[in-house]
Amino acid sequence: MSFIVAIDGPAGTGKGTVTKILAKKFKLLNIDTGATYRCVTLEMLNKGVKLEELDKIKEILENIKIEIENTKEGQKVFLNGEDVTEKIRSKEVTELVSQVSSIKEVRFKMVDLQRKMAEGKNVIMEGRDIGTYVFPSADVKIYLDADLEERAKRRFLQNREKGIDINYVDVLENIKQRDENDRCKEIGALKLAKDAEVIDSTQISINQVVREISQIIINKKEEIKLEKKIYKVRKETTWKRFLRNIIKGTLAVVYKIAFQVKINGKVPSEGSYILCCNHINYLDAAAIVLFNKRKVNFVAKEDLFKNRLLFWLGHIFDAIPIKRDMQDIEAMKRCLKVLKNGELLGIFPEGTRKGLEKNGKAKNGAAFMAIKSKAKVIPIGIHGSFKPFSKVYVNYGEPIDLSNYSKEELDEATEKIMQEIVILTKKED
Ligand code: C5P
Repeated sequence: MSFIVAIDGPAGTGKGTVTKILAKKFKLLNIDTGATYRCVTLEMLNKGVKLEELDKIKEILENIKIEIENTKEGQKVFLNGEDVTEKIRSKEVTELVSQVSSIKEVRFKMVDLQRKMAEGKNVIMEGRDIGTYVFPSADVKIYLDADLEERAKRRFLQNREKGIDINYVDVLENIKQRDENDRCKEIGALKLAKDAEVIDSTQISINQVVREISQIIINKKEEIKLEKKIYKVRKETTWKRFLRNIIKGTLAVVYKIAFQVKINGKVPSEGSYILCCNHINYLDAAAIVLFNKRKVNFVAKEDLFKNRLLFWLGHIFDAIPIKRDMQDIEAMKRCLKVLKNGELLGIFPEGTRKGLEKNGKAKNGAAFMAIKSKAKVIPIGIHGSFKPFSKVYVNYGEPIDLSNYSKEELDEATEKIMQEIVILTKKED
């Protein structure tokens, strides 16, 4: 799987310099997307094609070959085989590029090219619309900003160093116009992605910016590593089964000392079932897992696995991690596999603790899986204060067959499960 860092922001914020340093530091392929628009602009200037000559622009797009090479001396840009690294930074190209990049056909072609350049690679991409349009699911999104005057000053000094003859006022005017143009584009406009980290570089050095982004990249890499560990499916082994039985037995004794557990009803000794229960306390899942002869594969929020002990227990008990803020397809697949294998799946349809009390809407996941797998749902009502030595009631209901519900009736099916659970939460004998 590729790792993508998106660096967006207006001209003169130091994106290029920062990206270059980070690419080297984290061994990422550096793709300057602005260079691709500059190449199209240069080709138009070379061929004397005007902005309004769309047919000629389309012809250019059909035949254009743009390559970006990361060399020891830095990034090199090739247009139809010619090294144009310097030429694309000329005053003429800079003045026109923003308008060229606003042409819909140019954008589609360049975005396509940029995505192909990044395919299967670990990349750092700088531009205007990387985090919002080119790679909306980039792993890291940075929006680099700075005051207009500061950006103009930087660009002016940069140009002077390169021997490009342009005065400060012209640079300022050009940046102002490009900003306006880039922000108002129909497609791929410069805007802040909602999940991007904003860094204002007006008052801070490039090194400081690099440090801040580096930390964000390091954190993200660690998060990905942890997620891989959490989601790794671990095989059943004799040792794992042995440990599970020992832990189960020990914790069951502790549980019975802490609470007076009253269990009504039970789960059939064979076959796949979805155990759906209300969720009032972190200890309610334990009452189902510990006092069931069969293994219950419980669905648990991913965050719990970040705790070392729960991570280990989760692995021993084959808990299924799930991301709650999105449709977690991976988790769904694992749940369906459990049911296909004739095992028990445990779910809290409320999705969160005390969902019933908060009048929250129950999640449709259990109903969806019951309809898809044809496994019956066993409703469970738990109640108790979970204060030490108090009574905890675990009431199992009769299996509910949802096979006559369609996928369009998920709400109704969920409602049926919840109604049964609510009735069972009131039972006390
Ligand atoms: O980054 P650079 O200044 O080289 O970009 C040149 C121009 O290309 C920008 O002013 C902008 O109009 C356009 N561009 C874009 N989308 C990107 C990158 C650059 O529209 N992702």
